[in-house]
Amino acid sequence: MNTFGLLINGKEIEASAGAHFASYDPATGEVVGQFARARAADVMAAVSSARAAYEDVWRDVSATERGRLLQEVARRIRSQAERLAIDEARDCGKVLSQARNDVAVAVRYFEFFGSVATALHGEQIPVGPDVIDFTVREPYGVCAQINAWNFPLNMAARSLAAALAAGNTVVLKTPELAPYNTAVLGRIVTEAGLPPGVVNIVHGYGGEAGAALSGHPDVDLVTFTGSIETGRTVAASAAANITPCVLELGGKSPTVVFPDADLDEVAGRLARGFVEANGQSCDLPSLAVVHTDVHDEFVDRLVRRVEKFTVGPAGEDPDVGALISEAQRARVEGYLTAAVEQGARVVAGGGRPSRADLGSGWYVEPTVLVDVTPGMTVASEEIFGPVLCVVKFATEDEAVAIANGTAYGLAAFVWTRDLGRGVRLTRRIQAGQVYLNCFTSGDSVMIPFGGFKSSGYGREKGFEALRTYTQVKNICIFAR
Ligand code: NAD
Repeated sequence: MNTFGLLINGKEIEASAGAHFASYDPATGEVVGQFARARAADVMAAVSSARAAYEDVWRDVSATERGRLLQEVARRIRSQAERLAIDEARDCGKVLSQARNDVAVAVRYFEFFGSVATALHGEQIPVGPDVIDFTVREPYGVCAQINAWNFPLNMAARSLAAALAAGNTVVLKTPELAPYNTAVLGRIVTEAGLPPGVVNIVHGYGGEAGAALSGHPDVDLVTFTGSIETGRTVAASAAANITPCVLELGGKSPTVVFPDADLDEVAGRLARGFVEANGQSCDLPSLAVVHTDVHDEFVDRLVRRVEKFTVGPAGEDPDVGALISEAQRARVEGYLTAAVEQGARVVAGGGRPSRADLGSGWYVEPTVLVDVTPGMTVASEEIFGPVLCVVKFATEDEAVAIANGTAYGLAAFVWTRDLGRGVRLTRRIQAGQVYLNCFTSGDSVMIPFGGFKSSGYGREKGFEALRTYTQVKNICIFAR
């Protein structure tokens, strides 16, 4: 077991009140790490440290040097990738092969933003013959980042690398349910040579450290990843200081399956997709919208795959691991009970796994629900567990209405061989990312990511994130 302090001004220190909290392995309930518990006074110290580092050092560091430092962070993450993957599996229950992939993606974020740090530039505007007018993109200054627990290292890398590449300093609050690898990342950035105070990492609870950070008047930009409910609170407290906010919230991402799709391929990929991160990923395909002509055949292919999935501790690298907490399992089970009461039918899973030695973990079997209709709670709310809801449709308009029928708008997936129809749907579906005949887009660090509707606003990832983390200044020079 390891103990972590708060990373403030380049040093790991105890919280001012001397308190700690623990994180737990979802498969066993064992303690994974102990973390200093920040309260408002510690958050104030972290913001002051980030402010001083920005004013005194970081804003004068060239983009070339910032990029070089980020590449060094990438190199150091890669050199301890296996250790990080094993710890991620223990801390958040991510099955080992996915944890390995998360670490690889974290490396890519630092490589990508390290390589594009020098590529951000403004525009020249043709105001008139005697005027030189141009824009520059300047960092905001101090960024507050508050993250969720489902991709801890990956998500910390995503926000941190972009903010630093753009020239900001950061105070990052780790997710209290899985803070381990973000704490390790704090040590890695320090060892990589980032100046003290450029990255500050605080651990603690949302209502304490999180609220103190999002409402701090000396923060210049707040980036939040988490639930809609907390997003509202965070945005309101940032708004009180007129501080801009980026909100990456939840999703209920539909997969629309037309009869001409390769049903076997889609069933195979969808089965893998809805159990990613044990069903706890914001953009995974959790709602299947399937044409009536192929519904039964498709469900049959799907169920045959899901029934073969293994469930077990993340370190065994099964198909599905434990949920993050007992409360999360209770929440998922509540949704399953409500679904059956409202008329849905369980055709795979539906309970806890029977394997005798899994009793101490927070497991739910991978579950497929059919006879789901758009009015049901499970069709509209984010379950955040390994549960796929299948809804039928008959016409293209009906498919679009179901796909757009939730408050969310994060991702959508359309499967058809009819390119005209596919393109029409990519335009009609309201989501931040729409995929036609695929579930992912390869090297995803390069593409912008964010939501429509209640899934949030602002964009992380890709070059677009450099715009997110900078503000435009117009400079006008009059030749006299
Ligand atoms: P959550 O909203 O409970 O917590 C997220 C973070 O906010 C945590 O660090 C928490 O400590 C903090 N927090 C809680 N209350 C706060 C407050 N009053 N002020 C400031 N901070 C506060 O969410 P969660 O359960 O950790 O994560 C699950 C949710 O995150 C899901 O809805 C999921 O879809 C979403 N998510 C979105 C993305 C994305 O990129 N769109 C990625 C991952 C997860």
